[in-house]
Amino acid sequence: MGALAAIGGWIMRLLRWTALLALVGVGVLIGGWLLLKPDPRPRAPALSEPYQGETFAERPLAPPRAVETGDCGEATQYTEAARANSGSAISLVWTPFGPEEVGWETYGPLIAAEIGTACGFGQPGFAAALAEWQRRHGPSRDGVLRPADFEIMKQAWHRRRPFSKIRPEDCPPPTADLTFAGVEEVYGRPMQLRPGTLAAYRRMIAAARAEAPEIFARPEALKIFSAFRDPEADALRCEADGNCDGLRRTLCSAHRTGLALDLHVGMAAGRDPASTANANRLAQSRDPAYRWLVRNAHRFGFVNYAFEPWHWEWTGEPV
Ligand SMILES: [Zn+2]
Repeated sequence: MGALAAIGGWIMRLLRWTALLALVGVGVLIGGWLLLKPDPRPRAPALSEPYQGETFAERPLAPPRAVETGDCGEATQYTEAARANSGSAISLVWTPFGPEEVGWETYGPLIAAEIGTACGFGQPGFAAALAEWQRRHGPSRDGVLRPADFEIMKQAWHRRRPFSKIRPEDCPPPTADLTFAGVEEVYGRPMQLRPGTLAAYRRMIAAARAEAPEIFARPEALKIFSAFRDPEADALRCEADGNCDGLRRTLCSAHRTGLALDLHVGMAAGRDPASTANANRLAQSRDPAYRWLVRNAHRFGFVNYAFEPWHWEWTGEPV
């Protein structure tokens, strides 16, 4: 009996220890899971973070801030800043995208949308809105636009374009899911694009016609002059024309996705609607069609490539 009781006691101790160890194990597992589980909340990256590492679902598509209306001359404490801005907007010599440019007026509509003002770039209301933006993002806070402010905005605009995050070596295959735009929707030759892109484009054009009919006094306004481009045809054309317009574009253009559209937003005299000449882009930045797009295209899922006022990408489907 003594031996049996000893064995029974030993078994009971073993069971107790096993139960204790199992409890500790479960606790460690739960603790580890809580510590390591992925955070389901979408995380907007800080503006200073590099572009990599976001998937389509995580990409923040922050629309431009709500436009503040009011008296653009009211903020008299920003009169000096407004004077500095109206000067640099036409005279600053800088290289925001590589080639030298003079002034930043071309980017005025994009900047105004980003800082949430309807005021012109030389007005105190613009400087006041910029100072407010600078308090949250900028290195300075005096309402005077400098290249460092622009660089932060440029990164934010870049980050809103899913395509811009694709490395050339990860270039997606040309999309096969394509449909033709209507003849009345294109400027020039027939254009193919993804059905979703076309549907979003049509919703956007219907809204523009209702909200800003003056845009369409120019019949070609907002018509599509380039959409899907087959990379092989692109390569042949670049060879034939002797104009490859940058190696990256030939290797991996956003136009291979069926998500990118080039829209007619006017042009300078003697230029074509996709001329990267500074004078052409400046003329386009003053065009009512472009200005409407800057304020409204995000409602339909379109984002702009800031260097090309005509180039818009639909963000409604993964690249
Ligand atoms: Zn384009």
